[in-house]
This record gives sequence, C-alpha cells and structure tokens, in this order.
Amino acid sequence: MSSKSKIRMTTPIVEMDGDEMTRVIWKWIKDILIFPYVDLKTEYYDLGLKNRDATADIVTVEASEATKRLGVAVKCATITPNAARVEEYSLKEMWKSPNGTIRAILDGTVFRTPIIVKGIEPYVPTWKKPITIARHAYGDIYKNTETKVPKGSKAELVVTDPDGNEKRLLIHEFKDSDGIVQGVHNVDSSISSFARSCFNYALERRETIWFAAKDTISKTYDHRFKDIFAEIFENEYKKRFEEAGIEYFYTLIDDAVARVIRSEGGFIWACKNYDGDVMSDMLATAYGSLGLMTSVLVSPGGAYEYEAAHGTVTRHYYSYLEGKKESTNPIATIFAWTGALKKRGELDGNTELAEFAEDLEKASVLTMEEGVMDKNLSLLSKLENKKIVYSEEFLYEIRERLDRIRK
Ligand code: NAP
Ligand code: MG
Repeated sequence: MSSKSKIRMTTPIVEMDGDEMTRVIWKWIKDILIFPYVDLKTEYYDLGLKNRDATADIVTVEASEATKRLGVAVKCATITPNAARVEEYSLKEMWKSPNGTIRAILDGTVFRTPIIVKGIEPYVPTWKKPITIARHAYGDIYKNTETKVPKGSKAELVVTDPDGNEKRLLIHEFKDSDGIVQGVHNVDSSISSFARSCFNYALERRETIWFAAKDTISKTYDHRFKDIFAEIFENEYKKRFEEAGIEYFYTLIDDAVARVIRSEGGFIWACKNYDGDVMSDMLATAYGSLGLMTSVLVSPGGAYEYEAAHGTVTRHYYSYLEGKKESTNPIATIFAWTGALKKRGELDGNTELAEFAEDLEKASVLTMEEGVMDKNLSLLSKLENKKIVYSEEFLYEIRERLDRIRK
C-alpha cells in the first residue's frame, strides 16, 4: 500500500504506552498492523513504570485529562507497583494503579467482553454470544472500615447528620464470643454514574442489560442501588431502549447467576463492586482465556478507554529478554486498538477508519479459526490442525489475512 492511500484521521486518539511484554507487542502491532494502513494520529503518553516514576505519576493524570478532552483512548497493560517492583525499578514511591487513577478521573465503569472464536468453546455449551460484565468500581467492601471485636463488646452504627444529631443502630452485642465487624458505604452520585454508563453502553451495543443485587436481604443498601437504576432508566432511557428494541430489568443476584448459566449470551450483566470482581474472573475462565478478554472504561460523560483485560505478561517478558521467542497472544491488545479506532471513526463520521478496524478484527478471528494461535490458546482449541506461532509471527499471519479481506 502506498502512503497516499493510507486512511486519514481527523481527530487523534490518546495512546497510553505500558510495560513489559505488552509494551513490546504494542510496538509490533503498530508497525505491522496499523502504520501500513492508517495515517495514525495519537497523543502519546508513556505510562511505562519508568516514566511514571520520572514524572511523579503526573503522566497518568495528563493522559486521563486528554481522554476526557479527546473522548477516545487506547491503553497498554501497565505494572501496578508492589514492594518487589519498588526495588526492581528503584521507584521513588509505590505509585498507585494507573487504572485506578484513570477510573477516578473519568468516573467510569469497566465493561469486559470476551472475543468469541470457533474452536475455543466456552465451558458452558449454551453460550453462543459474549456476555459482558459491568462492574461498579467504587465503594462497598473496597472502601471498608473493619475491626476485630472482643467478647462482651457492643457494636453500633453511628451516623452524625450535618446538624450534629446522632443516629445509633445496634449491629450486634458480642455476648458469648469474640467477633468481627465491618462498615461499608456507597454514594448516590457514584451509583448514578454507574447506572448511566451501563445504560449508555447497552444502547451502544444494542444489548439488553440486567442489574442484580440482593435487595431482599439488604433492604436499604442494595435497595438504594435498585431504586437509582429504576429512576434513571424511567426518566432518561426508557424511550431510547424501546426504540433500540432492548430491555433493562432488575433481578436478584441468585436469579441472575442461574439465568447466566442457562443463557446463550448476548447481554450485559451489571454488578456491584464485589460481585463484578468475582464474576468477571469466573466468566473470563469459562469463556476460555484471558488473552481473549477485552475491556473498556466508559465514562458517564461519554469518554472511552480501551484495553486488554490481561496484565503485562511478566514471565514471557523475562524469557524474551533472555533472547527466547515467546508465544504471547496479542489478540486482546489488537482489539483494544480496533475498539478505539472504531469509536474514533464513529465519532468523526470516518467510515473508512471504522471499516478498517472491523476488517482487522475479522482477520484476527479468522487467523485463530484457521488454527494459527499462541501456545496457551492452542491448549484450549478443539481444532485438528494447529500451528503455534511466536507473537511477531502471529501478527504477520493476521496481516496476511487482513490483506486478503481488504482486497
Ligand atoms: P498477566 O500479565 O495477565 O499474566 C498472567 C499469566 O496469564 C501469564 O503468565 C500467562 O500465563 C497468561 N497470560 C496472560 N495474558 C496472556 C497473553 N496475552 N498471552 C499468553 N498468555 C497470557 O497477570 P500477572 O502475571 O498477574 O501480572 C503481571 C503484571 O501485570 C503485574 O505487574 C500487574 O500489576 C500487571 N497487571 C496490569 C493490568 C492492567 O494494566 N490492566 C491488569 C492485570 C495485571 P503463562 O505464564 O502460563 O504462559
Ligand atoms: Mg477479580
């Protein structure tokens, strides 16, 4: 392809570079699958751990602000530092998780969707379409206060209102035994943002959405979630849902779990923070592989940040540094790029760009359905003739099919 015929972009996307094996693959994806076809415009932010340390993590804040401004971002996996990483990289501080920072600034909800590939069968045979999980990422036990309680104590819930009035509720009298107690909270503003992000994303995917909690037991706390969802849906979304031919309903979390297992997929499941944490790992495993799990952060203000659900694949990186060729699956990272380019195309009315992104997705899936894949995926694939490829080869195999599709 000559540079003249490359697809033009009007508005840039935010590009957040990352760490380890995914950083290596990031560059290959651009060189092999994007630059030859697209006159790529990005605002580049290096979220690699070294640069986060050098900029006192300001770069993460700047990248998040840029995402608000430009509306679309693509992010490479990044290291969340722990004590070992502080030593390994001689960090000035144990910087916070970049995803946490981005989420706090965009006030967004994370949606995780598996990529469906023939030959990689979900453990649940009825699942034919992807199930997307939306996880509320604020509050509940993730911002709890908890303590051990010695026998003979009384635990109470005390709330002081703005006028200084106290409301006291008995939690438990620990008459016969030591015990434990925990206080959790959530805020209406965050639950409302969560609900709006969920409804917007359902409209975008044209898929029915459920929200599930345990309001029969938690008659005030979980019930508040249910009421906020119902109110926002009724006032702001009902009509648009009818026009799109999709539904919203609330159900008990127990019922949701039973329905999910019997379903054929093709819907969005909105979960409270803890349920989303647990259920998203269950779904990722049941669909087959982390290498096929995509993730997008959607802000209530309409900004989108796309990424792979997996991490920086550290083990493969150290083996790569020793000069060994690693078989790392690039698919979820490719889909982060295609998600962002498709969204940019949609927002700018750039159909050429959106079509390119779709062709790249088709080529990626076709490659795996023709039996070409990484080692981990090959262990799951039911196909007869498989060809295990190294990461870079995988990308050239996809390119060959992309050229076939775009001829
Ligand atoms: P991980 O990077 O997802 O990798 C865990 C294991 O899963 C790998 O060792 C590999 O298994 C397999 N795997 C994951 N992605 C794969 C792919 N694309 N292709 C082939 N195999 C894949 O998780 P982790 O080892 O727990 O975390 C590593 C680093 O990533 C940590 O520093 C963590 O902070 C960071 N992290 C970042 C994000 C993010 O940026 N969103 C998310 C999670 C973790 P085998 O070794 O068996 O081949
Ligand atoms: Mg989890």
